[in-house]
Amino acid sequence: MARDPICGMPLDEKNAKFKVQVRGRTYYFCREYCIHTFLEEKRIAYFSMEIGLTDDIHTYSAGLGILAGDTIRSSADLKIPLVAVSLISKKGYLKQEITREGKQIEHPTEWMPSKFMNELPTQITVQIEDREVRIKAWLYDHQSLTGGLVSILFLDTDVEGNTPEDRKITSFLYGGDERYRLKQEIVLGMGGVKMLEASGFKVRKYHMNEGHSSLLTLELLRKNDMTPDKVRDLCIFTTHTPVEAGHDKFPYDLVQETMGEIVPLETLKALGGRDRLNMTLLALNLSKYVNGVAKRHKDFSMKLFPGYYISAITNGVHSFTWTCDDFRKLYDKYLLGWANEPELLVRVDSIPDEEIWQAHMEAKEKLMDFVSTKTNVNLDRDVLTLGFARRATAYKRPVLLFSDLGRLEEINSKGRIQAIFAGKAHPKDWSGKQLIEEIYGYIAKLRNVIKIVYLEDYDIQMAAKLTSGVDVWLNTPLPPFEASGTSGMKAAHNGVINFSVLDGWWIEGCIEDVTGWAIGPSPKEPIGENERRHRELEDLYNKLEYLIISKFYKKRDNWIRMMENSIGKVAYYFNSHRMMRRYVTEAYL
Ligand SMILES: *Cc1c(COP(=O)(O)O)cnc(C)c1O
Repeated sequence: MARDPICGMPLDEKNAKFKVQVRGRTYYFCREYCIHTFLEEKRIAYFSMEIGLTDDIHTYSAGLGILAGDTIRSSADLKIPLVAVSLISKKGYLKQEITREGKQIEHPTEWMPSKFMNELPTQITVQIEDREVRIKAWLYDHQSLTGGLVSILFLDTDVEGNTPEDRKITSFLYGGDERYRLKQEIVLGMGGVKMLEASGFKVRKYHMNEGHSSLLTLELLRKNDMTPDKVRDLCIFTTHTPVEAGHDKFPYDLVQETMGEIVPLETLKALGGRDRLNMTLLALNLSKYVNGVAKRHKDFSMKLFPGYYISAITNGVHSFTWTCDDFRKLYDKYLLGWANEPELLVRVDSIPDEEIWQAHMEAKEKLMDFVSTKTNVNLDRDVLTLGFARRATAYKRPVLLFSDLGRLEEINSKGRIQAIFAGKAHPKDWSGKQLIEEIYGYIAKLRNVIKIVYLEDYDIQMAAKLTSGVDVWLNTPLPPFEASGTSGMKAAHNGVINFSVLDGWWIEGCIEDVTGWAIGPSPKEPIGENERRHRELEDLYNKLEYLIISKFYKKRDNWIRMMENSIGKVAYYFNSHRMMRRYVTEAYL
């Protein structure tokens, strides 16, 4: 059974009266009007360097890509006219192996686009180092159960006629050097605009998900008589990086060597920064609407870039995707329609406590089974279980829990704990890799006292298992580096309680001892950094010992109340349906 991608009407393919073939696909419609809308309606073109749809499609590395995936899923559910653009990243990001000593080994993850998507006949070119580099595209359609459809174009330079080097521009996600990255960004930004047009997509707005795609503004300048105001009218920019060092910047001699003079150098410097081409600044200068991904991130971004008005649309996660089977069934039973209307989760109190606990225990057991097949460690289903999984990198401070092993053992003697860790380090993030090794060391030291495992090769499926199967989701970023964070929102959808540093989204999500617990003081408290570090550790250990353990083991009713608050006060708001509705009303319209 097909569905009309415009109105959502279910249709029988065999007897369908209205169908069109376009871009190598057949689409079915209920009437002419829907065909016309499908072909002619102007869409939001959403550009992202990475997109995380499924684990088989290796075009993502971490949070940014997952957010892009959730953006697409919610847009399709809500029938928002959107088309996405990314790179094919044919050699993927990395498959992680970890040795017994905790050393990360990276394996390539080449994948076959033709198994999942079809190649468009259309090709375009962009100029790189005086060569016309050919670009083709792969089309992937994500169709929601509601019928709504979002097409995604994955750009690919592995085309006959290109030099062997150019054929590799779209091979490695976040691989290579500065020059390689700039070439990728030329393909994504400038190539993306051209490919959309060549393949028949009409565009009303261009949304840059992070600065990687901001060269699209230059292509738009060219198309619009070099008039910045016309380009601004077309562009929306979401920044994701709260610190100066995180923004992509390219030296102008490299820019000139690589791109030539797409726009006059003086114009480029006026828009993208005097000393180096700053992709964030370029996007800021050429976008009508700019937003950060949490309220605090917006405040920080405005300090980083004085003189620009930046709004805040706090991130969310796709409710259906990140809710495990056991909770889906429960929500279906008591909150019918929740998946496309996550606001209904506010009515969580209509679900009996015992059923919440039952669903949680089932998810927990599935996770324990998964862990034992992966590691041969048998975790205990009745023991308080902490989860920590995300990119392994310094600012996430994955070793904070191990700051005082003696204290941790003492806490464990009051009420047993166990923990599951996971996360990949970028191949060039030496300190991130070091952190994994350190954790392996702590795991070994605590082996006979506290069961802790580190799971290899963190990915979407594992994230879903972890964020639904632990009791407490731990997050200890160093403020203000966590622009938003999203894994805690996934946890909340499954009644898992957050215990996190007050940074990013959690500043908005945390009501102390109601929706979860804070680690460390509010960012508003005027105290020094050393004092802040001290208070974080104090909270981490004290709250674990005196609040969390005792509530888990001795006040189960109270615990379940907090699980319900996670669902009814956190998940009901921190979902990507709410996020996309806000992009529509505040940025796209
Ligand atoms: C959700 C998710 C992330 C982001 O996690 P944060 O804790 O918000 O950084 C990263 N990787 C994967 C695979 C995810 O599913």
